[in-house]
Amino acid sequence: MKQTIPFIFALALNVDVNAQSVPAFQQQNINTNKFRQLGQELPTPNLYRTASGAPGHAYYQQQVDYDMDIELDDEHQRLYGSGTITYHNNSPEELTYLWLQLDQNMRARESDTRKITTGEISDPMGFGDLARLHNDFDGGFKIDHVKDASGNDLPYTIVNTMMRVDLPKSLKSGAKTSIELKWWYNINDRMEIGGRSGYEYFPQDGNHLYTIAQFFPRMCVYNEVEGWQHKQFWGRGEFALPFGDYTVDITVPSDHIVGATGYCQNYGQVLTDAQLEEFNRAKNADGPVIIVSQKEAEENEKQGTSDKKTWTYKATNVRDFAFASSRKFIWDAMGVEIAGKKVMAMSYYPKEGNPLWEQYSTRVVAHTLKAYSKYTIDYPYPVAISVHAKAIGMEYPMICFNFGRPEKDGTYSPYVKHRMIGVIVHEVGHNFFPMIINSDERQWTWMDEGLNSFVEYLTEKEWDKDFPTRRGPPSKIVEYMEGDKSGMVPIMTNSESIFQFGNNAYGKPATALNILRETVLGRELFDYAFKEYARRWAFKHPSPADLFRTMEDASGVDLDWFWRGWFYTTDHCDQSLDAVRWFQVDTRDPKTEKPIARKQNDASDQAISDMRNEQAYQSMVEKDAATRDFYNNAYDPFSWSVLDEEEFNRYISELSDNEQELLRSDVNYYQVNLSSPGGLVMPVILEFEYADGSKETHRIPAEIWKMNDRKVSKLFMSEKELVRVALDPFLETADIDRSNNYWPPKAEPSRFELFKEQLPFEENPMQRAKRAAEKVKGFD
Ligand SMILES: [Zn+2]
Repeated sequence: MKQTIPFIFALALNVDVNAQSVPAFQQQNINTNKFRQLGQELPTPNLYRTASGAPGHAYYQQQVDYDMDIELDDEHQRLYGSGTITYHNNSPEELTYLWLQLDQNMRARESDTRKITTGEISDPMGFGDLARLHNDFDGGFKIDHVKDASGNDLPYTIVNTMMRVDLPKSLKSGAKTSIELKWWYNINDRMEIGGRSGYEYFPQDGNHLYTIAQFFPRMCVYNEVEGWQHKQFWGRGEFALPFGDYTVDITVPSDHIVGATGYCQNYGQVLTDAQLEEFNRAKNADGPVIIVSQKEAEENEKQGTSDKKTWTYKATNVRDFAFASSRKFIWDAMGVEIAGKKVMAMSYYPKEGNPLWEQYSTRVVAHTLKAYSKYTIDYPYPVAISVHAKAIGMEYPMICFNFGRPEKDGTYSPYVKHRMIGVIVHEVGHNFFPMIINSDERQWTWMDEGLNSFVEYLTEKEWDKDFPTRRGPPSKIVEYMEGDKSGMVPIMTNSESIFQFGNNAYGKPATALNILRETVLGRELFDYAFKEYARRWAFKHPSPADLFRTMEDASGVDLDWFWRGWFYTTDHCDQSLDAVRWFQVDTRDPKTEKPIARKQNDASDQAISDMRNEQAYQSMVEKDAATRDFYNNAYDPFSWSVLDEEEFNRYISELSDNEQELLRSDVNYYQVNLSSPGGLVMPVILEFEYADGSKETHRIPAEIWKMNDRKVSKLFMSEKELVRVALDPFLETADIDRSNNYWPPKAEPSRFELFKEQLPFEENPMQRAKRAAEKVKGFD
């Protein structure tokens, strides 16, 4: 109901109603204001990393070059390697030792990963869980030697998944050194014991499909953030790797097709003339060109050979190297133009991947390179490869392994199709985060997975506006955000200690960035700042503060409250539209106000006793005229006299023209009372609907909560009559409870199913005994 307010001109219209209640954070003796700056949470800016979030003038990073010979033993599923690692010490410090990562040691018989694996017998228990307990596969690295450039043995110490190599003399700043390594290991069966790398065995044709990674001792990152990043590889927190140049010779059975990080240097030797011709034709083709056909692959599958071939790859400025090899591979490719350069988008897959793979994989690779290049930096590498690998999605520079397998009859569900397209976008997207924008995955899963899932979302929608994206839209994170807080950690939590990995490290940061883009900064400011982050940190090692600071620095918007709420707490957003109150100015004109007052009086609700008394009896005043006076007989509080009119005219004559105009303006004032029981401060988006059917959207920055993050009121005015208000009408804030988002409250019918409980057929012991007896009788 509308109320009239006496108009006191001394009171400013934009009265700060916040000031009327004491904010929660003032009641405590520490500052818990949600808009205070991120001071203690962020590292102090320095010469290496500036307060603006950019690399500082003293920024450095190490370079590590690898020259390796690799042989794949397809008969015993082993990998043999030897090679030279050249380490360039670009740090200002002297180094007395080098740390390398021996990731395969996670799969050693006595690995700490196995020791800390927890478990309970559950009833029922999956065969897989029990099989894992029985598994005694020995997958650790066997190090044959570590030598210096002159062939002298170097002392080394293996600490589970890490290896320290002691240098004969310390490595000065600006100097480089080389070490020679020789090693081998047993390749794991991915389908039996899991893993990001390994093989899948196809019993129908007796062949293996290898997707090989973490296959060589890889140098750790050394920098001013962590010193040596040699936190053990437990299996979940991924990798931290320096950039360098790679030359890798990969020797495989001669009927295998190989795809790898880098550009192959000897296609002329390893391909047939016809294959080479198709490869060259693919560079300028509009769609994927088949280089090795399904028919060829099926022929290869049947034979097998003891002959060998060596494929030579070179990769410049990459942080890692991976490859895939199989005689089952079909191979297609197409050129994509990125910033005037041709990039080869390619796919390798067995016939089991078709028809999905030949239709989609390479096209999705090409689309992903273009979309990511638009939102980050131009894709800088010469190739981008998608390899079919059942049950995993895993990324490496220029090459990734992706699931998505149709049924044997070639049909597939929309789920399989969309998950396959989604994983290819995601893993190809990882080229940007973390392969180029090279964050420390061992420390922060969200820095690559969250950012990548965000751009994945944009890319999927550019592929198909109806794409059923799982992570990015605010509505998709609501279920997680409203969940039990004891099963939740802030995004800023180390990779090994995260509950609900997918929601915390992928979904929540991806959603946060999407909200930052759509609701907090707007697309233009966000895209500029995000691109600037990518540009600043491409081919470098960013830390979380570098992202937070760059986004603020380039957008010109203080986002500390946003990072604090979304990345440093487990708070959720629940805004509530508590009340809408409607006011009009009391004009003081008796001709206007008295009839309004009468109408309101007539319309007011009546008390039950008064209503019943009316029927029940006659009062003394009603019965006996002697009990009545002026107030019973003649007084009407809603009438006015010439005196009232004179007073009003005198009042008017004392007002200025402006004041008179305000008094006469026929404006409605609406006071909207809001609260935020969720605790996560967010912008307020209100949609007003008026009696004439028109709508109006008010977008209010989150700073409306800066004095009181629990309760605020705001005044709006309009000549129109308000009939409906919706809070967060476009599903932007991941508000977990929308039932308090409407005025007047909206009752939404929902449907529920009725069902009769159907008992499973079960024999009782008597029935069973009877049936057994009949069966025995039958044999008589
Ligand atoms: Zn990922």
